[in-house]
Amino acid sequence: MSLQQPKVGFVSLGCPKALVDSERILTQLKVEGYDLVQTYDDADVVVVNTCGFIDSAVAESLDTIGEALAENGKVIVTGCLGKRADLIRQAHPGVLSISGPQDYQSVMEAVHTALPPKHDPFLDLLPDYGLKLTPHHFAYLKISEGCNHRCTFCIIPSMRGDLVSRPVDEVLREAEKLVRGGVKELLVVSQDTSAYGVDVKYAPKLWRTGMYETRMKALCEGLSELGVWTRLHYVYPYPHVDDVIPLMADGKLLPYLDIPFQHASPRILKLMKRPGAVDKTLERIHNWRNICPELTLRSTFIVGFPGETEQEFEDLLDFLDEAQLDRVGAFAYSPVTGAKANDLPNPVPEGVKQERLARFMQRQADISATKLEAKVGSVQTCIVDAIDGELAIARSKADAPEIDGLVQIQDGREAGLRPGEFVQVRIMGSDEHDLYGEVEYNA
Ligand code: SF4
Repeated sequence: MSLQQPKVGFVSLGCPKALVDSERILTQLKVEGYDLVQTYDDADVVVVNTCGFIDSAVAESLDTIGEALAENGKVIVTGCLGKRADLIRQAHPGVLSISGPQDYQSVMEAVHTALPPKHDPFLDLLPDYGLKLTPHHFAYLKISEGCNHRCTFCIIPSMRGDLVSRPVDEVLREAEKLVRGGVKELLVVSQDTSAYGVDVKYAPKLWRTGMYETRMKALCEGLSELGVWTRLHYVYPYPHVDDVIPLMADGKLLPYLDIPFQHASPRILKLMKRPGAVDKTLERIHNWRNICPELTLRSTFIVGFPGETEQEFEDLLDFLDEAQLDRVGAFAYSPVTGAKANDLPNPVPEGVKQERLARFMQRQADISATKLEAKVGSVQTCIVDAIDGELAIARSKADAPEIDGLVQIQDGREAGLRPGEFVQVRIMGSDEHDLYGEVEYNA
């Protein structure tokens, strides 16, 4: 048998949910004996997993498809933008196939058509958790797909459909495999983690020797059995979020919530049609911190939403002052094709949006810098991501990969640290994003 395997190139764009789709497709390709290659030249066919979240992501996806067509010629398109097949065909009539997000079967059928697989049993050896695009020591764990909300600035539900939760036993088994494979940090992702299980009426499932509901709290309890870091992303401020805070205080779950508030003005939140209670947010944050003082809160905001008045923007700045969030991302509102918010009256002029964004970021930068400075002198448990020259680049419990800050360990190489290792770090300095420290001792 020839060892020359059919070769597939893969380009993965978009958010962690799309990344998980890419990992599933790559795993299946590898299972079926395809070689995965790094360049257009080496590939017999190229798969592009697209993003369609905002207009700039659409443009990037279309450009990438165009580049793959120009460089290789045989291109299969999948992912969020696949829901807008007309747009893709109009720009790039030569693509071989188009499918939507998590439609793994259509992608594999298109690959089979373009490039029939050759079976080689000696090459079919794979780790049982599949292939990952993240470093060895952390992994995204996708617990559901789609969303039941209809936020007016968002087109995800029209691309990914309503919420479909994965059964909790399936998620826990996947997490188990990842941990067996060396993963030390699980990042729970979805469109709305706090709504997990609502579509299946929180159906209980058997995992190991116990029954677990398909529900955020039960999932967290199961994951805490695995003895690794578990971090929750995309949580909305529903009342039942209060239930997981004690797990954080007990060290079963990382004391970290990624909770996209988007705004603080009740009127703007109503115009945005945001889920979750808006009236008592500050009180709830206060209670969470009482139960778990170590809690890190990350959030995202949109400034310059249509109709936002100067007073409403000032209210948002006041909220920042009071909430004292640890990590914040912000965007100036930009219309997304197909989003309902585009029809709202009184759009904020571009110049005003940018000026508000700058004021917002400056206010939060001061808060973040002060909060990080308060950590100087403390000892933080960190996970090492990489070694860079003399430094070890690590993250504390308060830092999610890609979106938050880093802990730069000055004597990381000298201490013999390796990626994936836990270490206690004495914090010696800070700026508005990162911390700087030295090894206290290896954890
Ligand atoms: S909660 Fe809102 S912003 Fe998030 S995916 Fe659902 S509709 Fe979009």
